[in-house]
Amino acid sequence: LGPDSSELRERERRHGAANYAPLPVVFQRGEGVWLWDVEGRRYLDMMSAYSAVSFGHSHPRLVRALTEQAQRLALTSRAFSSDRLPVFLERLCATFGYERALPVNTGLEAVETALKAARKWGYKVKGIAEDEAEIIACDGNFHGRSIAIVGFSSHRQYRDGFGPFPPGLRRIPYGDADALEAAITPRTAAFLVEPIQGEGGIVVPPAGYLARCAEICHRHGVLLIADEVQTGLGRTGRLLACEHEGVRPDGLILGKALGGGLLPVSAFLADCAVMDVFRPGDHGSTFGGNPLAAAVGTEVLALLAETRPWEPAERLGEALRMQLRAAAPPCVREVRGRGLLVGIELDPAFSAARAAECLLARGIATRDTNRNVLRLAPPLIIDEAVLREGANVVIDTLASLSD
Ligand code: PMP
Repeated sequence: LGPDSSELRERERRHGAANYAPLPVVFQRGEGVWLWDVEGRRYLDMMSAYSAVSFGHSHPRLVRALTEQAQRLALTSRAFSSDRLPVFLERLCATFGYERALPVNTGLEAVETALKAARKWGYKVKGIAEDEAEIIACDGNFHGRSIAIVGFSSHRQYRDGFGPFPPGLRRIPYGDADALEAAITPRTAAFLVEPIQGEGGIVVPPAGYLARCAEICHRHGVLLIADEVQTGLGRTGRLLACEHEGVRPDGLILGKALGGGLLPVSAFLADCAVMDVFRPGDHGSTFGGNPLAAAVGTEVLALLAETRPWEPAERLGEALRMQLRAAAPPCVREVRGRGLLVGIELDPAFSAARAAECLLARGIATRDTNRNVLRLAPPLIIDEAVLREGANVVIDTLASLSD
């Protein structure tokens, strides 16, 4: 027998940075929608590593793509090309309808890539005076935690103690297209937006918001950049959440599920008019588009096309919200979301963090997010009966909080 969870947690506490506060469980194995802790207890994964495990844990086809590639060639850096990269780039561009893709690793890196492209586009194409470009983002956003990105966070904890931040980053209320119109100046290069705010508390903007933002951006010559790191690849019931409003952003940011839950894979996609501002040496990373990432990413895109997971996500998400609303105990203020990105906002007298702890004790793995919201975002491959049973446990647990 290996070390138990309390010993492992103590060792993690002793040597790990204190920047996370994990729930008291130590996972050892995952398969499909299930996780097992070191004591052998089974949990239903209702969080999918912040939507990164959309195809379930250790999907056999993705594991095969990863291991076969690992045995052949794992890394070249971008100093050289690999035979896997063009295949991945072609498939990325064909799947999402863009002329070019720039693969990097994590979500925040893809966001940084988009911001750099937007600024350079602002100078080279739009004619903004050097060093004066502005990027507009939204209150309640989450785009990652680099210094530039937390520079426009409205969340005090993400910013406090980490300044100074780069200039030229501004923020407007989320869901208010008039505020975008009012905020745009001749120096505005881009508007960066999540189609649904994930970490901000599963916030769905009013119908028509994104389409209006797109119209406003195009009228003012401002790039609309959609951060679909969390909402993309079927999570919200469409391949991309932007499709709910028929919007095709000028720049598209993907991450999380693009790595199939096996490794970090992210990308920024745009047409030549934007992407070709990058010249060799402008931007890059040792691991971006590496053969492992390219092999797994290509297989993820193949799986997407073959299995169309947004279709069950749409249907199951709707059923889940109906089930939760029909039986919501008094502590529930609102059930919202799209597809399988679902948030349950609790009355301020109750704690979503506490609810997540109680759920863990009952075999459901998830966490709370901002605005006192309990997140439900299981892998998209979840079986309908398993989801229904999981939702019943959530309802019972929330009811016991209300008692
Ligand atoms: N953008 C969005 C919308 C996200 O939800 C996240 C992560 N939660 C990120 C960017 C950052 O991704 P990463 O953690 O891979 O840097």
